[in-house]
Amino acid sequence: MRRIHMRFPEGKGKALTLSYDDGVEQDQRLIEVMKKNGLKGTFNINSGLYASPGMKYNPGNVHRRMSLEDCRKVYLNSGMEIACHTWTHALGERLSSCLNMQQIVKDRENLESQYDCTVRGLAYPGGQYNDEVIEIMRYAGIVYGRTVCSAHDFRLPTDWYHMSPTCHHNDPQLMEFAEKFVEISVLYDSVLFLLWGHSYEFEENDNWEVIEQFADYMGGRNDIWYATNIQIYDYVHAFDNLIFHIDGKSVYNPSAMEIFLEADGELFCISPGQEKALTYAAYDKRR
Ligand SMILES: [Zn+2]
Repeated sequence: MRRIHMRFPEGKGKALTLSYDDGVEQDQRLIEVMKKNGLKGTFNINSGLYASPGMKYNPGNVHRRMSLEDCRKVYLNSGMEIACHTWTHALGERLSSCLNMQQIVKDRENLESQYDCTVRGLAYPGGQYNDEVIEIMRYAGIVYGRTVCSAHDFRLPTDWYHMSPTCHHNDPQLMEFAEKFVEISVLYDSVLFLLWGHSYEFEENDNWEVIEQFADYMGGRNDIWYATNIQIYDYVHAFDNLIFHIDGKSVYNPSAMEIFLEADGELFCISPGQEKALTYAAYDKRR
């Protein structure tokens, strides 16, 4: 019996991703912090709630949505993923099916045309969703849904429509989880740290140092893959689509991605379209 475990790109055993909601002005500063430390993540936007160009907010209002023009400046070419947060931040059991459908379909269609990219992720607004919402997402080509329920662990999602974050950035245990994540030795399954929040909260609580400290501590590590939510989804699914011989001694990679795995503690890289024997002779020196 072979022990086979997925590894992330370059054989890494850990992945870190961020997920931030609402498309607010403070996302610009958050992206600067992320870029400085090599972090990547996903920004979940309501395509029906942009601010009017030149809109002035009342002093003290921290929840300042950006105009479409400003959003394009902040997110396009940032290396971050753009994902749905529904059309007008409304979803859930209290809405009729057709209104839930409109919230999802219209948001995806708007975002794809506004940012000229494919949009396949969603963060549930207010954490609201139910089985019907998930069914609509499937039909609409949305492949994952991020919840607001902290899992307080590093397990990869098994059901991507219940993609629970590790924690919110205001979690008193944030740095405790970060240190635990950094110190883990990955012997078996690869692990994921998913951080979520709203960047306006840093201004509201006057605590930008929370994310600056987290990013500084977690960034620049050789054993962590810094990726967006959808990059992690796509990689895990490409791994899941590998075709193994029944004895685990050979594998075929039908995807267009280079996939890494450990078999009996040895690291292998399977090229796109490659059939590879998982033997010691085929041991990948890139480990
Ligand atoms: Zn929201």
